[in-house]
Amino acid sequence: MREGYIVAVDIGATKMRVALMRKEAVLAKREVKTPADVKIFAKVLKQLISYIRSSSSWDKVLMISIATIGPLDLERGVITNTPNLGGLTIDLPSLLTEFNKPFIIVNDCVAAIWGEKLWGKARHYSNAIYVTISTGIGGGIITDNNLLLGKSGNAHEIGHIVVDAERKLQCGCGGWGHWEAYGGGGNIPRFVKYIVDNKLVKGIENSIIARMVEREELDAKKLYGLAKTGNKYALAVIKEVNKYHVAGFESIINMYDPEIIIVGGSIAFNNYELIVEPIRRSINNRKGLITSPPIIELASFGEDEVLVGASALAYSPPRYLLERLKYFHQAADKS
Ligand SMILES: [Zn+2]
Repeated sequence: MREGYIVAVDIGATKMRVALMRKEAVLAKREVKTPADVKIFAKVLKQLISYIRSSSSWDKVLMISIATIGPLDLERGVITNTPNLGGLTIDLPSLLTEFNKPFIIVNDCVAAIWGEKLWGKARHYSNAIYVTISTGIGGGIITDNNLLLGKSGNAHEIGHIVVDAERKLQCGCGGWGHWEAYGGGGNIPRFVKYIVDNKLVKGIENSIIARMVEREELDAKKLYGLAKTGNKYALAVIKEVNKYHVAGFESIINMYDPEIIIVGGSIAFNNYELIVEPIRRSINNRKGLITSPPIIELASFGEDEVLVGASALAYSPPRYLLERLKYFHQAADKS
């Protein structure tokens, strides 16, 4: 692709970021809380992109590339009823046409693994998986150098792998027993309540955690914060959560046979010793794997991971991805 810039947009469950990118370099960036209302969302997204349009760099912008939490209707570019964003449905192409630039819209983790493949830790590998442990659990998968999409663009939705055959807890997507229902930050309060109610950790009913659950004050950040102070109940609860993370990792390793798994997401980043290290230890010791354990590493680009991924997909998109995007054909046909 010719020289120029990309406007990259990262739509997350809690934050929305827009950046002017030159390959993996972030030249300018703005960040806001993701609005949980369709009209406000539309207004804020347009404002953020307009901020870059008002700069002298706009003429050199080649493309707008949005990477968003799912589920995403890949072909139409519509975020559909996303469980981690108040069930919003957002028709993104309708918000972008006024900017008169080509645009692509992809899943955030799909973007992230492509950024890792082009410029990050997956550079030298043909089989790589990106896993985010954040409000939800998501993934992006490259096998044999191909970015997996699937029939509706959801081949990478690893957060919805069933890790509990008893299906004790319901996931935000409506399914039961999914990995995200146990390990996603947004669902951790419900899982901890389950642990307390069923006394899965000895003595937990009399702990500070039980009191926080009762007052509906417990969230993922507080749980991991308590664990860092050495609270034994918090550590025991995290051990329970990690069982589901390990089940998820084992499943994706057995399915996709990756050389490397790259872990991102705010919860994983902020709690490396409590989450990523124990997962790595379990995977390395695990005899149940059908293949050899992959390398497990933290994401290359920190909080800019998804922005870099969006940029990577804009600079170097797989052709079969572009062919799937109905709005992209329409835009190209008009020009
Ligand atoms: Zn689910």
